Amino acid sequence: MSEYMAVYKCQLCGEMQRIPQAVKGSTEDIEHLLAKTIFYQKEFGSRPDLVQLMEKMPHRCKDGSLGVSLFVGFKKAQ
Ligand SMILES: [Zn+2]
Repeated sequence: MSEYMAVYKCQLCGEMQRIPQAVKGSTEDIEHLLAKTIFYQKEFGSRPDLVQLMEKMPHRCKDGSLGVSLFVGFKKAQ
C-alpha cells in the first residue's frame, strides 16, 4: 500500500499544487479510482477520505492574477 497526493495545476499560470491529504492504496486501487474519477465524476463523493477533494480550485497566481486549478492526478508520495 502506498500514499498518493492529489495534484492540481493552475490553468492560468501553470503552477502545480499538491494537497497534503494523502490517499492510501495499491497502485491498482488508485488507478481504478482515477479511472472512475475520469469517467464518473461522482466517485469523489463516494470515498469518505476524498470528500474534501475538489475537481477545481481557485488559485492565487504569483503575479496577483486569479486562476483556476484543475485536478490532474495522484502523485505517489516518496
Ligand atoms: Zn495560477
